[in-house]
Amino acid sequence: MPPYRTVGKPGHAMKFDYETSPVRTLFGAGRLGELADEVGRLGWSRPMLLSTPQQADLLAHARNLLQAFDTASFDGVAMHTPVAVTKDALAKVAEHGTDGLVSLGGGSSVGLGKAISIRTGLPHMAIPTTYAGSEMTPILGETENGRKVTQRQPAIRPDIVLYDSELTLTLPLAMSVTSGLNAIAHAVEAIYAPDANPVTSLMAEEGVRAMASALRAIVADDQDRAAREEALYAAWLCGTCLGQVGMGLHHKLCHTLGGMFDLPHAETHSIVLPHAMAYNEGAAPQMTRIARALDAHGSAAMAMHELSLELNAPTALRELGMAESGIAAAADQAVSSPYPNPRPIERDGIADLLRRAWSGAAPGN
Ligand code: NAD
Repeated sequence: MPPYRTVGKPGHAMKFDYETSPVRTLFGAGRLGELADEVGRLGWSRPMLLSTPQQADLLAHARNLLQAFDTASFDGVAMHTPVAVTKDALAKVAEHGTDGLVSLGGGSSVGLGKAISIRTGLPHMAIPTTYAGSEMTPILGETENGRKVTQRQPAIRPDIVLYDSELTLTLPLAMSVTSGLNAIAHAVEAIYAPDANPVTSLMAEEGVRAMASALRAIVADDQDRAAREEALYAAWLCGTCLGQVGMGLHHKLCHTLGGMFDLPHAETHSIVLPHAMAYNEGAAPQMTRIARALDAHGSAAMAMHELSLELNAPTALRELGMAESGIAAAADQAVSSPYPNPRPIERDGIADLLRRAWSGAAPGN
């Protein structure tokens, strides 16, 4: 294993800024049972629960736990946080006189909690049931008129996060895998982010190690409680990385592809990640830490590709319904306003990367 620098590149002095945010985080199997205690501790009397129609049972269970309060619920959460849905939910919040929000579910539910909280100033407790990591970030992406607009400000970040791995036992296997790889993508980009710091680098390496180990065990038995717990711990680490440092080429490509072709979020991340890693590997010596986290002695990108194959994750954008003719347009858009990235963003290299990701080829550079 070649030597690595904690942050920065060899030959550069270590220099970093580090800020922490006051998020109360509760972690542990079965801790949803403490929901009423937590709401009472916060002094709320009129909580509003938010989730998707698919998670109606969870919503009903949580509402039952909050019988002592004047609780309302909104089950209309939709993907990509459409502003129209937020307006419906805001009307319900006003009618109910809500004094605290509880989002239950994946990044979509947490997104609605953020969208309401940032407009009303209401406190927000997130109870994540996927590995997307949105609950630890100050980032909100909303869609209106077919466009996704992303904003970043500290007030967007939820105030309390309750991680209960029991709630992830129902996450279907394929979604567990792609959601876990989505989390790994946050950590990979945190390792080479220009504003990386020693703490995010530690969390990123541990997040990748724990998620890879957990996903292997979940594929063997998706009801493995210890593995579900480890995956949620990894999701917390990876989400914290996403919330603390800026993202690069990989996230830019996924936002571009998602926005242009309406591709599913976690699957797109899973497919693009090994290719974005291969593009950056020569320019980001810190990636030896990712290789180490994956227990690999050579290329981190190849190790990620092999992990995807082992987990039966999707590997080709064409399988998601993207047309080959979209590659050129996506490459044009991805180079138009690039995020900071260790290797300069070159149109031909990006088109080549996308062609490989589209066809399901092994990563290369
Ligand atoms: P999701 O929240 O859209 O959930 C997908 C589906 O899975 C939904 O139908 C949901 O009800 C269901 N589901 C979730 N957990 C389940 C469980 N435990 N058991 C059974 N079903 C379950 O998916 P996601 O990938 O978590 O989130 C994607 C969205 O989050 C995207 O819009 C993405 O942009 C956003 N996101 C935002 C950030 C951020 O920092 N702002 C970070 C990551 C993702």
